[in-house]
Amino acid sequence: MKKFLQQAYEFVADLVAPVGCRCLSCDSEVFDNTGFCQQCTPKLPFNNGKTCLRCGVAIHGAEDYCGNCAFDKIYFDKGYSVFSYDGVVKSAILKMKFTGAGRFAKVLANYLVFLAQKHNLQYDLVCYVPMTKTSQKQRRYNQSELLAKYFCMAQDLDVLCHALAKIKQTERQESLGKQQRKENLVGAYKCVANVKGKRVLVIDDVKTTGSTINECAKVLKRAGATSVVGLTVASREEQTQWEIDEEI
Ligand SMILES: [Zn+2]
Ligand SMILES: [Zn+2]
Repeated sequence: MKKFLQQAYEFVADLVAPVGCRCLSCDSEVFDNTGFCQQCTPKLPFNNGKTCLRCGVAIHGAEDYCGNCAFDKIYFDKGYSVFSYDGVVKSAILKMKFTGAGRFAKVLANYLVFLAQKHNLQYDLVCYVPMTKTSQKQRRYNQSELLAKYFCMAQDLDVLCHALAKIKQTERQESLGKQQRKENLVGAYKCVANVKGKRVLVIDDVKTTGSTINECAKVLKRAGATSVVGLTVASREEQTQWEIDEEI
């Protein structure tokens, strides 16, 4: 049984088409198609330890569920993240968000394909966490939409669905505490496609408390989706309220 890191690395190296030769994290030269250089690859924070049985975030200790899934009403059926949001992956995701997303999304989407296939995820539609029209105009792209698009393209699947629209401008989630994050998103999304009877996979870049995926799942379930699974490139390990406050 090969190590998880080795499996993922070989899978992505085989799958991805050449997309340039700079490391997504440190920008030094890369000699294969995995997106990360020889220095950064061993530091990839794969989320392959103990994870919450519901949302897939890395957890420590005896419990089976993270604090969010143990106490909140959860609408998604299951969540998966390839990485913990840390180190070289964090820097790659921040670059994807703020410096033009194309090549970042193309490579990172292949890690999503790896995880989806590893867990044999079943779905009829692939959608993504939307931005408001105004935000998307400002940024010129939605990195989650690009991830979803490349995720489908890499597998030659015609299942990309623009199922959700963001209809309310919200505060940046990063600047809010856990309770505020939930309240901030209420009424923010609307289902704009026919998802009745469909198994929906929702793709996003980072999962923090899971409130974004959860709100999307709520809307999709109310529109008749039979299951909603979240798939993210990375998830933040659970923080205490004190740590969240420190970051604000
Ligand atoms: Zn590097
Ligand atoms: Zn959880």
